[in-house]
Amino acid sequence: MALEEYRKKRNFSSTPEPAGKPGAAAKRAGKPLFFCVQKHLASHLHYDFRLEHKGVLLSWAVPKGPALDPATKRLAMKVEDHPLEYGEFEGVIPEGYGAGIVMLWDRGTWTPESDDVDAALKKGDLKFTLDGYKLKGSWVLVRTGGRYAGARGGGDRSWLLIKHRDEWAGELDITEFASRSVKSEGDFEDILAEDTPAIWKSNRPAKGGDAGAMLATIIERAAKLKAKRTGTTTARATSAKTTKVAKTRRVSSSKAARSSSKKKAT
Ligand code: MN
Repeated sequence: MALEEYRKKRNFSSTPEPAGKPGAAAKRAGKPLFFCVQKHLASHLHYDFRLEHKGVLLSWAVPKGPALDPATKRLAMKVEDHPLEYGEFEGVIPEGYGAGIVMLWDRGTWTPESDDVDAALKKGDLKFTLDGYKLKGSWVLVRTGGRYAGARGGGDRSWLLIKHRDEWAGELDITEFASRSVKSEGDFEDILAEDTPAIWKSNRPAKGGDAGAMLATIIERAAKLKAKRTGTTTARATSAKTTKVAKTRRVSSSKAARSSSKKKAT
């Protein structure tokens, strides 16, 4: 339950990710347990599924993301525990481990369906209920035991995330249907446009394949979004130099422009 592995992988002077504060568990005592899913475009696109347990976030990387159809079992690779504060993180990781874009895709609370979470984890069969914006109802994480044995970190890292049959199950592709952030309502390009679209000019996190192509499109769209916003500012500054008579009219139109650009930003 320590964050050593998490901290060892990161350089906190170059990543915006939180280092994690001590004593987080004590402050959370008696509160509902937090869960989140972060959509992460790094060397590959994946969804990081995180459950609060004993002051940290237990974490699994789910390449295809959660599925609402109980017949669709999704591979979930167990990764290092993350600090609780990580659960609200959304932004751009400029370099190093996990370099790419992180979107807060879903968040809410979770309830274990067994009394002893540690025993369930040890057994490799954790049943729980989610109450998020997108994911709800009963789910299970089952360790597959050896199917991917020999893979990095050993075979015991591979689990399956499966939806149980209940009123929240269905065939809807939730990652397609609800693809945006629950924090900013933005897509990857909006998150990147808030930062620096050209950040990975020389060393892109995803170089080839689907993720590489996706990232190239996102970088281009983010640059356009950013240019559009900067362009609006320049036009406003120019119009301020015009005559007094015209100025009165322009003030109200620039107010409108400002409030519409604000709307776009949220
Ligand atoms: Mn990740």
